[in-house]
Amino acid sequence: MPDKSVIIIGAGLAGLAAGVYAQRNGYRSHIFEHAGQPGGVAAWWRRGAYTIDGGIHFLMNHRSGAIHDLYRDLGTAAPEIVTDMPEYGRWMDEPSGKLAVFYADLDRTAAELKQFAPADAGAIDAFIAGARAFQAAGAFDVGMSAPPELAGRLDSLKMLWGMRRVLPYFVGKHSRTAAEFAHTLRDPVLARIFENLFLPDVPLWFLYMLFGLLADGQMGLLTHGCEGFVQPIAARYRELGGEITYNATVEKVLVEDGRAVGVRLANGDEPRGDAVIATGDGYDTLFKLLDGRYLDDTSRARYRDWRLIPPWVTISFGVARGFAGEPHFTTYRLAEPIAVGPAQVDLVSVRVLNYGPSFAPAGKTVIQPTFESDWDYWAALRQSDRAAYEAEKARIAAEVLRRLETYYPGLSGQVEMTDVATPYTTWRYTLNRRGAYMGWLPTASQVMTTLPRTRPGLDRFVMAGQWVVPGGGVPTCLMSGRDAVRILCKWDGVR
Ligand SMILES: Cc1cc2nc3c(=O)[nH]c(=O)nc-3n(C[C@H](O)[C@H](O)[C@H](O)COP(=O)(O)OP(=O)(O)OC[C@H]3O[C@@H](n4cnc5c(N)ncnc54)[C@H](O)[C@@H]3O)c2cc1C
Repeated sequence: MPDKSVIIIGAGLAGLAAGVYAQRNGYRSHIFEHAGQPGGVAAWWRRGAYTIDGGIHFLMNHRSGAIHDLYRDLGTAAPEIVTDMPEYGRWMDEPSGKLAVFYADLDRTAAELKQFAPADAGAIDAFIAGARAFQAAGAFDVGMSAPPELAGRLDSLKMLWGMRRVLPYFVGKHSRTAAEFAHTLRDPVLARIFENLFLPDVPLWFLYMLFGLLADGQMGLLTHGCEGFVQPIAARYRELGGEITYNATVEKVLVEDGRAVGVRLANGDEPRGDAVIATGDGYDTLFKLLDGRYLDDTSRARYRDWRLIPPWVTISFGVARGFAGEPHFTTYRLAEPIAVGPAQVDLVSVRVLNYGPSFAPAGKTVIQPTFESDWDYWAALRQSDRAAYEAEKARIAAEVLRRLETYYPGLSGQVEMTDVATPYTTWRYTLNRRGAYMGWLPTASQVMTTLPRTRPGLDRFVMAGQWVVPGGGVPTCLMSGRDAVRILCKWDGVR
C-alpha cells in the first residue's frame, strides 16, 4: 500500500469514482468541490416539497457486464434504483399531427415506424438490423479504450477482438451522422425525428448502440433521480475514509520541480498532496489552473477547434396532478416556434418524472421541458441585467406552459412550482465551459478519439471526467476516475 495522498478536484461522477478507487488502493484522498453537494452535472435541487432532477436521463449497462461491476464497486448497483424503460421516448409532430413511439421492443418499433413512414421501410429495417447487431454485443463494455498511459501493446487487439461482432458497424455508411442518415429518408417528419433522436452529429452506430442496450433492458430510468445514484457513491467514499470539502473552488494547481504538489483554493488555503487528479472543466484545468503551461500543439488545436455540446434550458414545473401512465419522455416539434434570444426554438423535449416517489409528494409530479439554447445570449443577459434575465426565464416558462396546455388541459392552474435553469446556471454550479453539460460534442471523430490523461512536463498530475472522455456519459466518466487511479498505481508500483 502506498503511504501517499492525493488531492482530487471535483466531486462529480469522475471525482467520486477516483476517490473510491484511491481509497481502495491505499491512498489518502481529499476531494475539493466547487458546489455545495456531490454529483456535478448529475444534479438535483429542492424547491419546496419538490425535488428537481437536473441530470442523467437514463442509466446504461446497469444489469450485467463490466460497467455493472463498476457500479457495484462504487456502491450504486442496487436493482431498485433503476426503473425499466419500456420505450425510449415519443415524438409528437405538431405540424403534421403525427406521433411516433420508439419502443424497447424493436419489432414493435419497426412496425410503428413503417406505419408512420411506409416509403422508408427499407431504411427502417436497416436501422433496426444495426440495433440488433449491438444487442448483447457488450460493445459499450469493451469499447472503452484504455488511455494511452495504460494501454499495452495487446490492448487494442483485445478490444478489437471483443468488438468483432459489431466492428463492421463502425465504418462506412454506419458511421454517417444521424443527420446524414436522416437526409436519406423520404418522409420529412421521420427525417427530423432521426436527426434528433439523440443529437444530429452523433454517428449512426451510436444510435444502434443505444437501441441495442434498450432492447436488452440495459437502459433504465433512475427511480430516485441523480440523488439516488450519486449519494451511495459519496457514502461509499466516506466509508472508505475519503474526505470531501464542499464550496471549495480550486484556483491553481501548485507545481514544484515539475511535479503537482497540491492546490490553491479560492480562500487562499493550499492543501498539499503527493498527486493531483483534476476532473473539472478541461479549459479551466489546462488554461487557468495550470496557466496553459503544459499544452502540446495537438491539445491546443483540440481546445481551439473541437465542438462542445450545445447547452440546455431546463424548466421544471411542480404540478398538483398525477401523471400515472404518461410516457416519461416526449419531444414536441412545435408548429409555432418560440423565440429565445437569437433562436427560434421548435423542439422541446418533456420529461415526466412519474416513475419514482422522490420527485414530488403523492399525487403530484415534476414535469420538465428542456431545449437547446444559446450560451452567449443567456450569459450576456445574466451579467448585464439580472432583472431582465429573471423576466426572460419567467416569460419562457409561461410560454412553454401555454403550449403544454394543449396536451394537458388545466395544467396551468395546477402548477405550484416553477424553476428555470439556463446554460448560465449549468456553468455557475459546475463550471463547465459555456454550459456544455457533457463537455465535447460526441461527433463521430471526437467520440472515437482517446485523449491522454497526463500532461507533458508535469509529473503526478492526472485528468479524469468528461473533458478527457469525449461525449461524457455516466459509465465513461466513472471509468475515467478509475483509470486516473490506475495511472497513479502504475507510477507507484501498486498492483
Ligand atoms: C441533463 C443531463 C442529462 C444527462 N443524461 C445522461 C444520460 O442519460 N446518460 C448518461 O450516461 N449521461 C448523461 N449525462 C451526462 C453525465 O451525467 C455526465 O457526462 C457526467 O456526469 C459528467 O461527470 P464529470 O465528473 O466528468 O463532470 P462534472 O459533473 O462536471 O463534475 C466536475 C465537478 O468538478 C467541480 N469543479 C469544477 N471545477 C472545479 C474547481 N476549480 N474547483 C473545485 N471543483 C471544481 C464541479 O463543480 C463538478 O462538481 C447527462 C448530463 C446532464 C447534465
